[in-house]
Amino acid sequence: MERSRVLGRTPRPLTDEEKAVLREAVGPLLPDMDATGQTLPGIREEAHHDRGEDAVCAWIREPGGRDGPGIEVWLYCSPADQLYYLAEQLQSWAGDVQVDPGRRPWPDCPDHPGSHMLMPDTRDQIAVWCCPQSGRVIAAIGRLA
Ligand SMILES: [Zn+2]
Repeated sequence: MERSRVLGRTPRPLTDEEKAVLREAVGPLLPDMDATGQTLPGIREEAHHDRGEDAVCAWIREPGGRDGPGIEVWLYCSPADQLYYLAEQLQSWAGDVQVDPGRRPWPDCPDHPGSHMLMPDTRDQIAVWCCPQSGRVIAAIGRLA
């Protein structure tokens, strides 16, 4: 707790190893954001708080250089769960219309355009996008295009 507060004031640059973990973890989400016209998040490779060995923490940088929300890559879970958690975090960032009124819920459901966004989930140890209404798996995360 004390350590988190200290890091909040003075973020710690990530180590090369942590940067590699972060880039690899976020990587699969970028093609989905790109393919659907979503602004790509800039990642500030600094830890805003410390979860010890459980997670790599960083920031999203908003257009214009402001600091956006923190993101966390959880390390001790399956790759599918790790991607699922990251998808939730980036989805929350992408849809934050209070920060940028031009944003909209992301990703839009191709089965029901304009009515709801896809929800991340995992099926058979693969992170996927699902329609929350029908439950249909639309695509594996990273293959939305
Ligand atoms: Zn739908």
